[in-house]
Amino acid sequence: MSTFQAPKGTYDLLPPDSATYLAVREAIAAPLKKSGYGYVETPGFENVELFARGVGESTDIVTKEMYTLTTKGGDELALRPEGTASVLRAALEANLHKAGNLPVKLWYSGSYYRYERPQKGRYRHFSQVGAEAIGAEDPALDAELIILADQAYRSLGLSDFRILLNSLGDKECRPVYRDALQGFLRGLDLDEDTRRRIDINPLRVLDDKRAEVQKQLVGAPMLRDYLCDACKAYHEEVRGLLQAAGVAFEDDEKLVRGLDYYTRTTFEFVHDGLGAQSAVGGGGRYDGLSEMIGGPALPSVGWALGVDRTVLALEAEGITLDIPASTSVYAVPLGEEARRVLFGVVTELRRAGVATDFSFGGKGLKGAMKNANRSGARYAIVAGERDLAEGVVQLKDMESGEQEPVALDAIVATLQAKPA
Ligand code: AMP
Repeated sequence: MSTFQAPKGTYDLLPPDSATYLAVREAIAAPLKKSGYGYVETPGFENVELFARGVGESTDIVTKEMYTLTTKGGDELALRPEGTASVLRAALEANLHKAGNLPVKLWYSGSYYRYERPQKGRYRHFSQVGAEAIGAEDPALDAELIILADQAYRSLGLSDFRILLNSLGDKECRPVYRDALQGFLRGLDLDEDTRRRIDINPLRVLDDKRAEVQKQLVGAPMLRDYLCDACKAYHEEVRGLLQAAGVAFEDDEKLVRGLDYYTRTTFEFVHDGLGAQSAVGGGGRYDGLSEMIGGPALPSVGWALGVDRTVLALEAEGITLDIPASTSVYAVPLGEEARRVLFGVVTELRRAGVATDFSFGGKGLKGAMKNANRSGARYAIVAGERDLAEGVVQLKDMESGEQEPVALDAIVATLQAKPA
């Protein structure tokens, strides 16, 4: 194996493509920042216990996909496989919920780790931008988050995605349904692994992708028929608010999602151009999670959108983001003296806020101009011995090709005054 090979299931973000990733992160965060969500950053790892209790002992994420390690000091840690448990832990630790301003609204952006079978759109290291609204039970809050995610995707120009919506019930009605479902599932012809799942997480069996399982699931009791009146009313309210906002969604009574902590509203954003890994984002309400990790009752709702898959969705729709060139001015010195003088000009331009780059390594005019072109800079400034003797630099407009001498002591002000 070459030393220059990223670990299996990972990849590097490199220019120029990395600019798209940054832009996607920013586009997802933008509507949150304007809607009262504050930025939160938590460690890349947590005590294993947090995820075992928070994400759920019966989930694939915890049983199969977590990167765990024992430190030299004997602490059992896990690289974070998702964001919600960490963010809630951080909010509880800092007592944000006691500051008297509920819901606590937070957004985050970072790397997550799951030991999954890698394929296109599924990586062992991936990136999410997420939002959590902690400590309020209000259908408008669920609707707000779904609307903001929709807004984020649309701001990127995406349109080939669908919103799937479901309610998972609460601690009153969910157990009744669970019993009914377990009764039904135990009567089916299923393999041992799936049978075990019936005991620990029967809702996940509904999620089974295999045709032979799906065939047997016809006629399974549906949660919709078991929702208590409070859950039904709550769900109708969320649906109504989304409809009023003009955000289209599909009711998907089979949507259960892979994490144990969801209650009531659950949703997923799927993109139709992505093949098997079509979920670009998802989330829901997790009213019991705080208590599961040892905190007070804090009904909450949140989502996480995958940055990697959102970039793939852009590709699938043939969308190229309009990312302005990062360099506006490129300086090309010809000779030793010019290098000193122009490097000084570059520093001044940068301090004046003009995005400037420099031809390093003593290149000749031809090579340096090629780099100037590649940089995307609108202007090049070129200076040789003779220009310096005359107290000027040559200012070249890279778009029109026009070139004119500008007095050395006026070049910074001249470029500052030009449109970027
Ligand atoms: P989840 O926490 O599983 O609901 O994931 C939320 C979003 O994160 C998904 O919709 C994906 O866009 C993204 N995601 C989750 N797992 C992976 C992965 N292994 N590779 C790439 N993206 C992922």
